[in-house]
Amino acid sequence: MNSFSKLCKCKKCNKTMKFKKESGGLYCCSTYDNYGKSHCDRVIVKEEFLKSLVCRRFEKELSDEEIREVIDHILVEDYLLLEIYFKNNEKPILLQGKFIQF
Ligand SMILES: [Zn+2]
Repeated sequence: MNSFSKLCKCKKCNKTMKFKKESGGLYCCSTYDNYGKSHCDRVIVKEEFLKSLVCRRFEKELSDEEIREVIDHILVEDYLLLEIYFKNNEKPILLQGKFIQF
């Protein structure tokens, strides 16, 4: 499972995030992963978490394929600071700490 490959970007360095199998699957800033903390922060988000947010928006379970059809890109600053943008100009999902806009 790897629904969000190439869709997640680190908001700090603007690079595409890398999929890693650890902790059940997560995305990590590729700059941090390749060059270390002097180049970017350890920005990570779990795949399951992203998936749960998208499924909550649509109020149903979506397959990986369906997810890739609706999502344009995701900006991740931290696992509780992220923005999910959709292809059809639908309102984005904005997560800012305890505040979330669906
Ligand atoms: Zn980064």
